[in-house]
Amino acid sequence: MLTDSTPLLETNKLKKYYPIKGGLFKKTIGNVKAVQNVSFQIYEGETLGVVGESGCGKSTLGRTILGLEKSTGGSISFRGKTIHHLSESKLKKFKKDMQMVFQDPFASLNPRQRIGDALEEVFVIHTNLNKSERKKRVLLLLKEVGLKEEHYRRYPHEFSGGQRQRIGIARAIALNPSLIVCDEAVSALDVSVQAQVIKLLKDLQEKYKLTYMFISHDLGVVKHMCDRVLVMYLGTMVELGSSEQIYRNPLHPYTKALLSAIPRPVPGRKKNRVKMQGDIPSASNYPNGCPFHTRCPLAQDRCRTIVPEWREVEEGHFVACHEV
Ligand code: SF4
Repeated sequence: MLTDSTPLLETNKLKKYYPIKGGLFKKTIGNVKAVQNVSFQIYEGETLGVVGESGCGKSTLGRTILGLEKSTGGSISFRGKTIHHLSESKLKKFKKDMQMVFQDPFASLNPRQRIGDALEEVFVIHTNLNKSERKKRVLLLLKEVGLKEEHYRRYPHEFSGGQRQRIGIARAIALNPSLIVCDEAVSALDVSVQAQVIKLLKDLQEKYKLTYMFISHDLGVVKHMCDRVLVMYLGTMVELGSSEQIYRNPLHPYTKALLSAIPRPVPGRKKNRVKMQGDIPSASNYPNGCPFHTRCPLAQDRCRTIVPEWREVEEGHFVACHEV
């Protein structure tokens, strides 16, 4: 799916820090470095998986890209235009083109509002459609995501988990976006419902030429869904490559450890469990050198002091590790 054309989305040394306040005058005494120097591209029509343990910064990365969090440094470009510095009003027209599907769509729905009205709100805010035109669009949207006309008048609590996620997807595609950030969008669903929602996402991608950034801790799901995979650890990028490269030939010890922990082994890959030591360090107490050195089974002296370079080791396959 990679092309030589301009990326749909590009980040360059993107950072998102949260200040830690302390002392009598609540001065900034440090930072939680949630996203550090993240640079990557997403091309039109592809699905980029972003994986890592909880707290690795993948959700913050998605939220920062969509302008839901203000970046601390670096840049974000969409269709070749830098957007990270835009005011809320100027960002609005780009936001229509970039949407998000959350893990729990129920949390953002008003329990006393019918689903039809909730979906119509998108058109009230962003279009000049009248009431009957809005209703027509919502009924089409419901059909598009596999729901029925009768669901228009139902309340959120009357839907199952899978149906609620279909509503989340309907809301995300309502304004014909180009990019959808799916943040753990299928993680809370049963395996069979998960498969149906993944199929829906893939069908919509094909029909509307959608581009996905698919954030997940579930490497089994990512393998089925994604063209390329970015592995993050403690807010930084540790490996990036095509799904084939990452799943058949993982290079970074962290990627190897994540893959070896998948309960459903990847066919053709021997299951040699790679064990990480200890717990993930706090992003407020960032390790020197390689961020993974406190848990890495291969760590050497230089790993504790020298930050590994981000290198392309084969076409399209990048890694940050001294030992690769
Ligand atoms: S640079 Fe060193 S500590 Fe970091 S992943 Fe590679 S071997 Fe492990």
